[in-house]
Formats: sequence, C-alpha cells, structure tokens
Amino acid sequence: MAVSVPMLPLVKVAMPPRSNLMSALESVLYSGMIAEGEAVYEFERNFGKLFNLPSALAVNSGTAALHIAFLMAGVKPGDEVITTSMTAEPTNTTLLQVGAIPVFADVDPETGNMDPDSALALITERTRAICVVHYAGYPADTRRLRVMADSHGIALIEDCAHALGASAFGKAVGVIGDSGIFSFQAIKHMTTVDGGVLTLKSAEQVPEARRTRWFGLTKGVARTEVDIKSAGFKYNMNNVSATIGNQQLLGVGALVDKHIENGRFFDKALCDIPGVKPAKVISGTNPSYWLYTMLCDGSDEVERRLGDVGVSASKLHRPNHLHSIFAPYRRDLPGLEKFYKRLVHIPCGWWVEERDREKIVDALRRG
Ligand SMILES: *Cc1c(COP(=O)(O)O)cnc(C)c1O
Repeated sequence: MAVSVPMLPLVKVAMPPRSNLMSALESVLYSGMIAEGEAVYEFERNFGKLFNLPSALAVNSGTAALHIAFLMAGVKPGDEVITTSMTAEPTNTTLLQVGAIPVFADVDPETGNMDPDSALALITERTRAICVVHYAGYPADTRRLRVMADSHGIALIEDCAHALGASAFGKAVGVIGDSGIFSFQAIKHMTTVDGGVLTLKSAEQVPEARRTRWFGLTKGVARTEVDIKSAGFKYNMNNVSATIGNQQLLGVGALVDKHIENGRFFDKALCDIPGVKPAKVISGTNPSYWLYTMLCDGSDEVERRLGDVGVSASKLHRPNHLHSIFAPYRRDLPGLEKFYKRLVHIPCGWWVEERDREKIVDALRRG
C-alpha cells in the first residue's frame, strides 16, 4: 500500500489559543447571560475598530446579514438585483428569499469578479440593487460600481464573506457599499462557529436593522410595552459566539497578514510559469487572499499534479446559475465560463508554511 501523504488543506478552521478561549468560554457559559448581551456589543465595537468598519451589527450568520442587507436596501418581491454567479450559494439563495429576481452580470475572466460594464448593461427600471462579491478575497471594482449605483439611484451591497481584512481604494471592503456583510462560518478567515456582521453606511438605518435581527422588537424597551411594526427575524448573535469572536479578534490580524504574505509570494512566484497565471489584482486594491486564485491551462491536470504532491487544489465553488433553482435566470456569461474553465484555487492561508509554498511552486514549474 502506498504511504499516504497528509494533504495540505485548501481551507482550515482557526481557533484562538486553547487556554484563553476555554477560560473565556467557561466564564460566559456559567454567567447566566448566554443570549445577546454585553459580549455581543463588545464584539461589535472591537470588530468595527479593528477593521475600520462603522456600524457593525453582529448576527448569527453571514446569510442572515445578507438577508437584512437586502431588506434595508428596500428590495421587494419582483425587484431585480444585479449579482454574480461566481460566489458561494447564499449570496443568491438569499435573493430568492426576499422574492427578488437575480440578474447575473458577467465576471472579468482575469479576476472572477463582477464586470462593471456587464452590470451597467443590465440596469433596468426594476433594478433595486447591485450585490457585489469580493471573490476569494480579491476586491472587486467597487469604485466604478459605486458611481453607477449612485447615478441610477440604486443600492450597492458588498458581500465581503471572503474578504475580511481586504481594502479597496483606501478603505476597508464593506465601506463603499450602502451595506457590507462578513461571515464567521467555520472556514472563513475568522470563525465564531457561525456568525456574521452587517455594516451599514447610514447610521440612521441601524435601529431598523437591529429590530430586524430580533423579531421586529426594540431591545431595551419593556417587553409589555414594545410594539412590533414589521416582522423581523431571529438573527441575533449570542454571547457565546461573541466570546469566541472577541478571543479571535486578538489574533486575527496576524492570521490575515499570513494569508496576505502567502498571496503576495504566489503573485510573484507564479508570474513566470508557463500555462499558469495569478488572478489579476485591480490596481488600488489589496486582497486578503482567503483562497489563492490561479488561472491555468488544463486546470484538471494541475489539480491532479498538486494532489499527487499532497496539496489540495480545486475550484471549490459551483457557479450558482448552474443550480436548477437558478435555471430561470440563466444567461450567457462568457467571461465567467472563461474564468471557471481555467480556475484552480490553492491553499494560501495561515497554515501554509514556506516549505509548502516552495513545494507548490516546484510542482507547477515541473508541469
Ligand atoms: C460563507 C459565505 C456566505 C454566508 O455566510 P454564512 O455565515 O455561512 O451564512 C455568504 N457569501 C459568501 C460569498 C460566502 O462565502
């Protein structure tokens, strides 16, 4: 039997140091206050401060944050929302949840991100919002999308689930949009087991977003006097997740830096290998490389070759329009097809060491 090589994973759960986390968790679990409370508000303040994001609202998933973001953008049943198919499914299943029509813009074949020209051509009288994803942690062209959204009076929503710590045009991702969402699901840059954050450009929208995450109720008003005017959801973060989050925030800066260091290494090391091309980084943006994106001739063969030397490499996502549920919204996406055909993600997170990087580059060179 062949000796099996332990595989270098494409994604990995990051947990804070055991002793710190366990004592913090023990305190909160036996505090008598495990639901939404001080730990959540502390997490919101700490997260907003660390990543330069105003009005961070903690919720129980990135999907919940997206749902609230679409509602806050005024998306109603029958409205069109320009979106991308090159993303994880929640970006678009959430659109169906609010009754919107997902209108798939094409992507730039060099970046995998929404092509602003394609988005512009799809704006109609029924367009309510543009939802842009910073795919794999590479910022999209939010500067142009912002101008387009403003000139048409529609909202811009940034799905930053892959892009914690990335910046675009001098600002954190999530700030250029009317709203931004982050995910703390297991395998993202940072996890709270499950959780998310919604950021809002307009502080005036915060009270309504807060009510929407908690049944439509206003926190702090006596339960016997409070009045629900529109139905909200059970989307709040709890103190236990927030305690994990607060511990994570102590170390996440260093983890994200490691992703960025590895990503920049690959950007340099791969640029002269025949048949392999790093995804393009839009000038003025700084990716946080949740995954590293390569564009390769013979992507299947490249995946196999990396697998042979113990490195997980894959496309990871399925373009959403290929799912049956999105069949009614399919359209020609030649840029996406070109990107997806050549796409290979390789590991570049905090667990990737110098020798792993060398191994990957060697394997690709020998290709
Ligand atoms: C993970 C993810 C989400 C949803 O986040 P959850 O916390 O899992 O609900 C949304 N969009 C993208 C692009 C994601 O990768």
